Amino acid sequence: MYDTVVIGAGIAGCSTAFMLREKGQNVLLVDRSSYAATGGSGAAGAFVSPKIGKGGPLQVLTNEAFEYAKTFYLHYFPDYFHQTGVIRMPKDEEDAKKFAEYAIYNRSQFEMLDASQLQELGIEETLESFLFPEAGVCDAPELCNAMADRVPFRQFDVKSLTFENGIWQLLGSNSSLFTRNIVLATGHENVLFDMRYMGVRGTWGSRGDYYSKLPLEVSMHKKISVSANIGGIVKLGATHVKAKSPCMVCDGRPLASLEAQAKTMVNADDFVLKETFCGMRAGSKDYVPLVGKVVDTAYMIEHHRNVFRGAKVPLKHLENLYILNGIGGRGFVFSPLMAAWLSALIVEGKEMDKRVDPDRLFLKWCRKQKGA
Ligand SMILES: Cc1cc2nc3c(=O)[nH]c(=O)nc-3n(C[C@H](O)[C@H](O)[C@H](O)COP(=O)(O)OP(=O)(O)OC[C@H]3O[C@@H](n4cnc5c(N)ncnc54)[C@H](O)[C@@H]3O)c2cc1C
Repeated sequence: MYDTVVIGAGIAGCSTAFMLREKGQNVLLVDRSSYAATGGSGAAGAFVSPKIGKGGPLQVLTNEAFEYAKTFYLHYFPDYFHQTGVIRMPKDEEDAKKFAEYAIYNRSQFEMLDASQLQELGIEETLESFLFPEAGVCDAPELCNAMADRVPFRQFDVKSLTFENGIWQLLGSNSSLFTRNIVLATGHENVLFDMRYMGVRGTWGSRGDYYSKLPLEVSMHKKISVSANIGGIVKLGATHVKAKSPCMVCDGRPLASLEAQAKTMVNADDFVLKETFCGMRAGSKDYVPLVGKVVDTAYMIEHHRNVFRGAKVPLKHLENLYILNGIGGRGFVFSPLMAAWLSALIVEGKEMDKRVDPDRLFLKWCRKQKGA
């Protein structure tokens, strides 16, 4: 019998299992694959940098998570986090005008770089840009697997979940597991419960690793991201494809747009494609992560139908069931802090930060279910 079984060994699940283990729990991490990071996390370029903007709530949260993530990776997994620095360049002249305004909202250490400083770094940009020297890039699958190595891990495809007498049973094809708590970290696939209110959606993306001798020491982001040259490899990422069947609309050259953009940023003459990665990012309705307890939607529908007419009734949650999802295009930025918060809720009963609690979406969703 486990204290907690974490379902899904992407960066969300690996971080959560790692944190729970650090807190002394008897935890098991499971995935339908025999390795960690075969979902969206394996495809990620895994750039870890602050968000720029005018200090909106998502920026504030992202930057809190960034500060936590870089410290966490450097402390526990320094081999898989390269603190190359990340330069944020304006997308165009219009965007450049906003940078002076954005600067006051940069909470992380940063410098302004002008055209000559950018050129010295091998970057073909004339507009003033931010350099975040503490930002960097992770080796995504290696990092997830290093985390998974630090906790008991088992290949297990969860088909369904049942709850009886305070114990969860995970049913697989041929066997079962028993646990007190469950964490769902299943990325864009959420079929184990009715979680429509969270509105988790997948956005497909592709990116590439390129062989290159370009002496690029800093990573950068404009419309796309280009990594520093790490061991003869430069990463380009990533596309955003909204199509329902992205493989069907792919023209066989998913990286063409990235390569064209990269040429406007650095000298990409010697780039030779080594490997293409594709995967799904799972985002929430409001782009804010979903971390905490899960509402028992079936119960609410049966017992509180007035909730669909706007009544504010107390929410009933599925017992000892938790989620970490909706981390979108910034899974490697958000996961460590979100996992720290979730493990504090599970182990110490610490209240979840309201900004990420999925409850925020339930009543809004109910009001939209006309005729429910
Ligand atoms: C092309 C691309 C580029 C990206 N670039 C960046 C970036 O630069 N920086 C950044 O921070 N983020 C980036 N991301 C986003 C990041 O990858 C995601 O936010 C992150 O992978 C989400 O992690 P996750 O653990 O929630 O989901 P996933 O990694 O998808 O993991 C979910 C896991 O759950 C397992 N699973 C699902 N259902 C079951 C079941 N029933 N039983 C057992 N196992 C199950 C799956 O097998 C999978 O392994 C990028 C994503 C893509 C696709």
